[in-house]
Amino acid sequence: MPGMALVDRALLGPGPSNPYPEATAALAAPLLGHLDPEFLRVLDETCARLRRVWGTENARTLPLSGTGSIGMEAAFANFARPGDVVVVGVNGLFGERMVDVAGRYGADVVRVDHDWGQPVDVRRVLDAHPEPSMVAAVHAETSTGVRSDIKALAHAVHARDQRALVLADCVTSLAGIEVDIDAWGVDVAYSGTQKCLGVAPGLAPFTVSDRAWDRRVQRPPTWYLDLNLIGAYVDGSSGGRTYHHTAPVAMIASLHAALGRVLEEGLEAVHERHRAAGQRLHEGLGELGLELFAAEGHRLPELTTVRVPDGVDSAKVRQVLLTEYGIEIGAGVGAFASSVWRIGLMGHNARPERVELVLGALRRVLG
Ligand code: PLP
Repeated sequence: MPGMALVDRALLGPGPSNPYPEATAALAAPLLGHLDPEFLRVLDETCARLRRVWGTENARTLPLSGTGSIGMEAAFANFARPGDVVVVGVNGLFGERMVDVAGRYGADVVRVDHDWGQPVDVRRVLDAHPEPSMVAAVHAETSTGVRSDIKALAHAVHARDQRALVLADCVTSLAGIEVDIDAWGVDVAYSGTQKCLGVAPGLAPFTVSDRAWDRRVQRPPTWYLDLNLIGAYVDGSSGGRTYHHTAPVAMIASLHAALGRVLEEGLEAVHERHRAAGQRLHEGLGELGLELFAAEGHRLPELTTVRVPDGVDSAKVRQVLLTEYGIEIGAGVGAFASSVWRIGLMGHNARPERVELVLGALRRVLG
């Protein structure tokens, strides 16, 4: 019976991206049990490495089992009670998803809509409610290629009201652009492994401040994502580890390896590599006569949105890139599904040769 073909693509869409080679190699290591002391050492070290990448001292920093959306679910399940006012800055698909998820956990959601392609406006979010329990926004909106200023948002929220928690979606920002949880005053944040962290999809790095932890929901309406229960396994500081669910050991080993690679290169150097790759891509697209979609000054280097030229069949171009050049790029989202392309340069793909590859292929296909 044929298995999945061993086709090697350049994954230059919105994710997954091609993992760092170290992350892929780690998947081939002999499997260990989830309570094996050697694996627990790797788990502890993974959490320590995550703290460095998040820029936090938060004791509760761990990889959750599941993709980025699990991080979103865990955030609302553990920190929003029914009836809590949660203000969400919405400027794309993932802000919309936050509204949906928060509502399912019973929050009284106040959504603050922005035009897609624009960053979240701190003033408008602040003015949306005088005393929210939580203010949430997406740092890097993968649907539009826009960076929002989470630092300014968190500082403004805390300056007005010491009670409100700040929640940031860092799925497409962590290990690609600066994220500084403690200095920014973010209380709860989650990410995903398949973007700039350079690992396959399957884990959601998560971090919680002590302030937020003190206000957690004691018995969230989800067993799998109850951080009290998960913490009893992940946190070995009190000596014991209680089985909760079988940890995805191979994925954690892979994340451990990718984080090692990132920290060895140096976080600043990694950010600079993303910045330079994004800038070159933006310039190159301009040289091809293409127009960028995201608002100038707020463009992500790791995820670029570009308008499909008039008269060009957007799906056809993506299909030719895939089948003839082995390059995956993404379609747009929602109303922009066929009028925008999304080009990712995340993690291991944030390199000059990947930029030239996609620019060269686009030049030929559009030429
Ligand atoms: N948030 C953002 C900003 C994302 O880009 C994504 C995925 O693309 C998610 C959340 C959801 O993550 P996942 O698809 O891994 O569940």
